[in-house]
Amino acid sequence: MSRPLLFLDVDGPLNPYAAKPERRPAGYTTIRVPHGDGVGGLLPLSLRRGPLRVWLNPHHGRELLRLGYELCWATTWMAAANRWIAPVVGLPELPFVDFGEALFQERADGVHWKTAPLVEYAEGRPFAWVDDEQSERDASYVATHHPASRGLLHHVNPRIGLREDDFRALADFAVSLGSSPADA
Ligand SMILES: [Mg+2]
Repeated sequence: MSRPLLFLDVDGPLNPYAAKPERRPAGYTTIRVPHGDGVGGLLPLSLRRGPLRVWLNPHHGRELLRLGYELCWATTWMAAANRWIAPVVGLPELPFVDFGEALFQERADGVHWKTAPLVEYAEGRPFAWVDDEQSERDASYVATHHPASRGLLHHVNPRIGLREDDFRALADFAVSLGSSPADA
């Protein structure tokens, strides 16, 4: 069987940007991405000043690859995630969701601007979406527009980033869908 998709956000899950700025979390490394270098990241380019500091954990790629999913970037970084993020966290080049016109466009109904493009990209395939910005509106949008029980919205605290219990929850969901690390 084909593996479920794992839609992966950068800022929040991989980069705990909301952690105390003076204290880099243990196990993380720092990269600085020049302003205007093809990167969305956190803020629209027009609002960014100076290089963007990003904390990344070099072990996260290995943890993500063993979960039984097909990984896909779901981030404002879009293609730039392959250039800046993937090599540091230990991931290969991944496909990414091109948000196009939807990027940063707030919706009147309060559904996150990523949600509809992700559901569309999945085309009915089961997915887990790892992000720091989903709400109940996104959960109900997915419940309405995507096959039942085949979408997991997994929230990650942007002060903390991905941890062991997150990987366990994601692995459990993959197993519940009939996928497992052994299928990878
Ligand atoms: Mg985020």
